[in-house]
Amino acid sequence: MTSLCIVGAGVAGAGAADALSDTDIDVTVLEKSRGVCGRAATRRKNGCRYDHGANYVKDPDDRTTEFVRGLGEEGLLDVTEPVWTFDAAGRITEGDSRDDHKFTWTEGMTQLAKRLFARTDAEVKNQTRVAAIDREGERWSVVDTDGNGYGPFDALLLTPPAPQTAALLSDTRWDDERIPRLREAVGAVDYRTIRTYVLHYPFEQQQPWYGLVNVDKEHDVGWLSREECKEGRVPDGESLLVVQMSPEWSTAHYDDPLDESVDVVAEKVSTLLDDPAFSEPDWYDDQGWRYALPDEGVSDIVHEAEEEGLFFAGDWVAGEARVHAALWNGIEQGERVGEYLAASRL
Ligand SMILES: Cc1cc2nc3c(=O)[nH]c(=O)nc-3n(C[C@H](O)[C@H](O)[C@H](O)COP(=O)(O)OP(=O)(O)OC[C@H]3O[C@@H](n4cnc5c(N)ncnc54)[C@H](O)[C@@H]3O)c2cc1C
Repeated sequence: MTSLCIVGAGVAGAGAADALSDTDIDVTVLEKSRGVCGRAATRRKNGCRYDHGANYVKDPDDRTTEFVRGLGEEGLLDVTEPVWTFDAAGRITEGDSRDDHKFTWTEGMTQLAKRLFARTDAEVKNQTRVAAIDREGERWSVVDTDGNGYGPFDALLLTPPAPQTAALLSDTRWDDERIPRLREAVGAVDYRTIRTYVLHYPFEQQQPWYGLVNVDKEHDVGWLSREECKEGRVPDGESLLVVQMSPEWSTAHYDDPLDESVDVVAEKVSTLLDDPAFSEPDWYDDQGWRYALPDEGVSDIVHEAEEEGLFFAGDWVAGEARVHAALWNGIEQGERVGEYLAASRL
């Protein structure tokens, strides 16, 4: 039996594990967070459930719809209310994306990774932050931040956002001429930062839209959506807004205390929606995504170390900051790992 270590249990890591579920490869997944699904995770609070990272998975080409439906129809939601747009001046205009699928699940986006892992035999170890990777002979090993060692493995697949992957490439004793080139290419991927605010209100709101997106990228609010449009998320008679601030605002206010910055955000939302009631949420929450969205992909250099069993996957490898891109890239890279390990046994 051959073995693989996947670092990161986001959509790409889950897709890779799923791609190998019909093989006898022994898969271990090490994930720093308490849960799975990374930037497409869900949080629960005060009887509500909300997607504070990715809001939904879209289908650019039908195969994602088929794949998502194949994970089970129970609890699968397709948000049918439309996304409208707004500009720097706060003018709200009807959008034109009403026919697009916007998939999520009653229990949250996190279901995507949960359902994928559920159909594999992979062992997922949460709260395990990988600090260093190493090559010993022909095999890979990793060490977590508590000093625990894992491995050896026949292959290693790194899926954290590019800056965190670049850090792992710095912390290696593997003395190979490809490492500096890899580290430089991976470290060069730029990211936009997003701070998400979650605003809860003890009243229902009637709007003709599910979400509002700022199209000219000049407003401090980048995106705003109504979580109650997702069945089973918000109790009747209440409403919950997910507000993603623009990358510029988020970078400038990333470390501002929540209790102070939420007033500023709620005021902006209230002005945008032209309703003073939105300036006073009865409770709130936030999540900072330092590495929210990669601006571009990485060069083909990332495939150079595959002959040594070192692989990479994620939205930054796909070159598109979208759930479906991360999913398909994870599946594709999982298949490449499978081919590598099959060949290594010959
Ligand atoms: C605010 C926001 C809104 C978004 N909205 C949408 C949307 O509506 N639709 C859409 O399609 N996309 C959206 N995206 C993008 C989408 O979330 C990502 O493209 C996708 O989830 C990336 O998946 P991934 O597996 O590549 O990376 P990640 O989800 O980042 O997974 C990487 C995993 O690695 C783990 N990790 C990192 N370092 C270590 C370490 N050292 N050791 C162990 N584990 C580690 C992380 O905890 C994480 O779980 C959004 C993203 C953000 C941040």
